[in-house]
Amino acid sequence: MATTTTNTTQSGTQQPATPTYPNQVTGMYVLAQMLKKLGVTDMYGLVGIPVTDFSYICQAEGIRFVGFRHEQQAGMAAATHGYLTKTPGILLTVSSLGFLNGLTATINATVNCYPMIQISGSSDREPIDLDQGTYEGLDQLNVAKGLVKAAYRVNKPEDIPTAVIRAYRAAVSGRPGGVYLDVPTPCLGAVVDREQAMSWLETPVDPAPAMIPSAESVDRALKLLSAAKRPAIVLGKGAQYAQIDDKIKKLVETLGVPFLPMSMAKGLIPDNHPQSAIAARSTILEEADVVMLVGARLNWLLSRGHGKWNPDGQFIQLEIEPTEIDCNRHIAAPVIGDLESSVDALLAKLPDYKMSMDPAWMEKIQSITKVKNAEFAQRLVPQTVPMTHWSALSAVKKVYDANPDLILVNEGANTLDDTRDTLDIMQPRHRIDCATWAIMGMGMGSAIGAAVATGGRVLAVEGDSAFGFSGMDFSTICRFKLPVTVVIFNNGGIYNGIGVNANGDSDPAPTTLDIHARYDKLGDAFGAKTYYVTTPAELEQALTEAVALKGPALIDVQLAADSGKESGHIGYLNPESLRHFTV
Ligand code: ADP
Ligand code: MG
Repeated sequence: MATTTTNTTQSGTQQPATPTYPNQVTGMYVLAQMLKKLGVTDMYGLVGIPVTDFSYICQAEGIRFVGFRHEQQAGMAAATHGYLTKTPGILLTVSSLGFLNGLTATINATVNCYPMIQISGSSDREPIDLDQGTYEGLDQLNVAKGLVKAAYRVNKPEDIPTAVIRAYRAAVSGRPGGVYLDVPTPCLGAVVDREQAMSWLETPVDPAPAMIPSAESVDRALKLLSAAKRPAIVLGKGAQYAQIDDKIKKLVETLGVPFLPMSMAKGLIPDNHPQSAIAARSTILEEADVVMLVGARLNWLLSRGHGKWNPDGQFIQLEIEPTEIDCNRHIAAPVIGDLESSVDALLAKLPDYKMSMDPAWMEKIQSITKVKNAEFAQRLVPQTVPMTHWSALSAVKKVYDANPDLILVNEGANTLDDTRDTLDIMQPRHRIDCATWAIMGMGMGSAIGAAVATGGRVLAVEGDSAFGFSGMDFSTICRFKLPVTVVIFNNGGIYNGIGVNANGDSDPAPTTLDIHARYDKLGDAFGAKTYYVTTPAELEQALTEAVALKGPALIDVQLAADSGKESGHIGYLNPESLRHFTV
């Protein structure tokens, strides 16, 4: 058993004794070793009591520690890291507020099925349980429970390996998600014998086991699909997460049916693929008779399967989480398994079935695509100044087309919708946005997570309002010299900058920000390469130069204040009354 020693201070609280190296170590050291053993290479966080030493130990042990200015952004980075690597991103937070700030990101990761582990220091149990008032005291485990995929507390250093393994398994197995691991101060500081501690370390066998779909479910799906006259495939970010890009492409191409990528599934198969139905979305919804959902949920982003959807259409769903099935529309053919196993099984059985798709269906999708794409291209023609979202995006598109390796991070309202519609994504996992919860405030964190996890170049296209939530962490991009270019579309407001204060005083309207703000000067403060641009030509030149730098860059894009509409494409979600005040 562990030999744990403590000192009692004047205040009566138990303080860990100082370990005598090299024979003794602390719980923090055990935790760091355990993370290393699991292959953790990067950690995102913001330190203070009681986890500062832990971050130093991790750094000394070769785990890259990316220190942030706000925990929520560190959490967004960990979540994006998890999404892009299929291993849990690690977030480190301090007790109380730090924990709570980070928890929002861990919950968001859970909603989006991204694997991450939030490790938080917490105060001694006794005064919290008796509600006696202690430094940063909060019953963190109970706050986290129910909001994340799993939550654990580890009280003894000898339990740390088990705790980390449980957290790891919970994050990556089945439907991935966010996990909370609470580590109270006494456990972090407990002094133990080094040799004994090292003997506790273990490696989990098969932490994200394959889940093989039943042969019956595969046959049921293929029978339905092959009988369809107007079949379609919807790809979701679960399909990106699975990292079986070639197999999915093979499945789609062998079936020869149109596919519709959800926003983060763009690029899994290049957006300009001849079977892409991006531009014919309503036709797919209204007319497809059998739709196969691949790592995509029939949630609000797909009208929960109602509204515009063909009421007589039938669904096949390739999904890892059994309780997802039937949660909105009846699913005629659920295929429960991990996507790789399910796609393998479908590909293996496909030769036994003959597709009966009407060739006119694919032709129809392709001709709609041609017309819509031509119409869409027209929107990018006027080089309007002061810039609109469209004239600005005409410049961004030229640069993105020339640099398709850039991982795009995108948030905002109009900036989100219009960028998604404008930029063709050509490579898998190259678009990260505010996703299922449609939250604002993931930009800098996700950009950092993407850059650290992949080593690749990142382009963040941000609305001015969206940027405000995470802007201070642009400084983190600068301190870590990451290859991230941030483009801010400044139209001076949430949605736009022309809200009217009906009270008539000099206060700004609720949606009004600052059309004259010079975000580039914020970049100057932290030593980034910065630009302020007012025309599409200037933007194209600045962006071309910025992405070539492979370092921190920020471009303030001056838009017209009246560019952009209230809530972008989802204004219909507002209660009616709001529309009296906003444009
Ligand atoms: P989108 O918003 O792009 O439709 P969602 O996040 O709503 O994507 O849906 C992704 C779905 O993919 C979730 O239901 C999730 O359970 C599922 N999923 C995630 N990973 C896998 C996997 N490896 N195998 C099968 N399904 C998966
Ligand atoms: Mg704005």
